[in-house]
Amino acid sequence: MLSVILPAYNEEKNIAPAAERISEVLTAEGIEYEIIFVDDGSKDGTWSEIKAASVRDPSVRGRHFSRNFGKEAAMFAGLDSVRGDCAVVLDSDLQHPPEKIIEMYRLWEQGYEVIEGIKDDRGSESVFHRFAADSFYGLMSRATKIDMSSSSDFKLLDRKVVDTLNAMPEKHVFFRAMSFWVGFRRAEVRYSVQARTAGESKWSTWSLVKYALNNITSFSAAPLHLITVLGYAMLIVSVVFGVISLVQKFMNVAQEGFTTVNILLLFSASVIMISLGIIGFYIERIYDEIKGRPRYIVAEECGSDNIG
Ligand code: UDP
Ligand code: MG
Repeated sequence: MLSVILPAYNEEKNIAPAAERISEVLTAEGIEYEIIFVDDGSKDGTWSEIKAASVRDPSVRGRHFSRNFGKEAAMFAGLDSVRGDCAVVLDSDLQHPPEKIIEMYRLWEQGYEVIEGIKDDRGSESVFHRFAADSFYGLMSRATKIDMSSSSDFKLLDRKVVDTLNAMPEKHVFFRAMSFWVGFRRAEVRYSVQARTAGESKWSTWSLVKYALNNITSFSAAPLHLITVLGYAMLIVSVVFGVISLVQKFMNVAQEGFTTVNILLLFSASVIMISLGIIGFYIERIYDEIKGRPRYIVAEECGSDNIG
């Protein structure tokens, strides 16, 4: 059986069409399936739509969060309740074409364990948003050594991989990077991003920046090394200036002005503060992890004898 996981946040208009499209596509191919909607604390009628869908179609189940925990938590809440032999994650706005699930499923049948959806293009987005997304993926790729530019959350995973991910203890999860990190036999399926069926994107450019900072600090220590590099660079600068100042002093031509002193003082103070900020980010991550709070809180569930 194939488990289809759909994270949904304020997607009331997309629930019924998504369930129908996916059922249609999978039934036509004779693939046994279940659909798991994870309502990420939506403020609109998403949860009642999911409940209605689970009454109409016994293969639909739903989990409802007590508040908005974010897409990463929602995807993991889906993975946590998978009953199938493999699971596919896709967006409930149908930007990931359901037809591609078939292609992924066939590859899984051939023995591949992680089948990644690779974006051919990013669909229609504003130039600025695309720039933000590109720089985010550029930074992420460099920091984590994983090519993030065309990867997405559209993936089909074997049961083994799902169990491995579920067993990973960190509270701050990043699906794309973690499903890459675990390894396993991999294959790729190309798809082009579809237009959103209804509603609007939940990602503002600012939330993308925050997302980038959070994920870089959870997946890479590179910014910490950058501080060391900066420290060495400043040491070299200070040796050069020190020698110059000493020479000037002994030649009795020492500068009277404070300009150089001021610039150096301000410059080193800002580097120190930025460095403290970077260290602060990591302390925050450690603090969050050490608290050991759950990734998400399920307030309600619906569908076939609920989730075991
Ligand atoms: N989503 C979620 N929780 C959030 C934000 C988004 O579960 O806090 C879901 C959303 O319902 C959708 C998917 O994540 O199914 C992708 O979100 P969106 O379409 O807004 O992002 P985009 O496609 O613009 O990258
Ligand atoms: Mg979308």
